[in-house]
Amino acid sequence: MKKYILRYPENIISKPILSEAIVKTGVMVNIIIASVEHSKAVIIISVVGGKSEEEKIVSFLRKKGVSVESIEANIIKDEWKCIDCGACYGICPTKAITLDSEKAMVLDNNECIRCGSCITACPTRALKMQEA
Ligand code: SF4
Ligand code: SF4
Repeated sequence: MKKYILRYPENIISKPILSEAIVKTGVMVNIIIASVEHSKAVIIISVVGGKSEEEKIVSFLRKKGVSVESIEANIIKDEWKCIDCGACYGICPTKAITLDSEKAMVLDNNECIRCGSCITACPTRALKMQEA
């Protein structure tokens, strides 16, 4: 399932645009994470279905003024630089980072929403966003 990051400008935050998009397009989405403040809102969703469902809902959201960006790049770990300190583990909002039985860090890009928090938190700069 493809993931998208939705950014709402201040003037449309209070409108139920995502609900309307689901009802009017008939496309189901999973809300992975939502952060809503008084002046901005960011929601990360995955779209249930294929290309046609993705295009339908993305187009609807964009027409309503929502900025929609697909999340494609993976987070890459440099095994030589990682010291398994665990700093990235606690900070990951989706639990995409786990520790294996030997307390080594394991990253699951399927669960990752590319928020970049782990990249910032890593003291050895072992993590980076894959270039497109
Ligand atoms: S970018 Fe890092 S912190 Fe953010 S979801 Fe992905 S693995 Fe977790
Ligand atoms: S923060 Fe960096 S060094 Fe520490 S476990 Fe994560 S990737 Fe490895």
